[in-house]
Amino acid sequence: MDATAYLRALRERVEAHFSAAAEREGANMACRAGCSQCCHAKFGVFEVEAQPIRVALAELEQTDPGKRQRIAKQARDQTLPHCALLVDNQCAVYAQRPLICRSQGLPLVVERAGKAQVDHCPLNFASEPPHRHSLMVLDNLNKPLAVLAQLDNSGGERVALADLAR
Ligand code: SF4
Repeated sequence: MDATAYLRALRERVEAHFSAAAEREGANMACRAGCSQCCHAKFGVFEVEAQPIRVALAELEQTDPGKRQRIAKQARDQTLPHCALLVDNQCAVYAQRPLICRSQGLPLVVERAGKAQVDHCPLNFASEPPHRHSLMVLDNLNKPLAVLAQLDNSGGERVALADLAR
């Protein structure tokens, strides 16, 4: 299996987890089309995720050059409060969005100072805590992604999404 196939398998795993959590949690998760709360952040990605985004942006240049120019302008704006790839509250590269974006909205188990904590969007789980089966251990996503990043000979450096968008 090559890196692209591994990435696809990881994406499918996260999306299956997200779908199951959304069904289980119902109204306890506020995630919906048009909400871009989790895009008010600036992420970086490994080359294995950067390349499909470059391809998507090159395709956009052909199909919607106006939108592509808008993204490039956003990427140059240091004061932009959200991801440069967010246009009219929609991700311009949705099909190729990074794994970190696919996991947003889930209750994520992260380790801080040796203690496991649950992080989630403030719009979610406002009325009751998430079911334990909805939790996703972030390391279970980050560790295989870091291995993939080592395999593609890019040195494991992260590329800012804003740099891809310029
Ligand atoms: S890549 Fe797309 S989904 Fe991820 S933060 Fe940017 S706009 Fe949002």
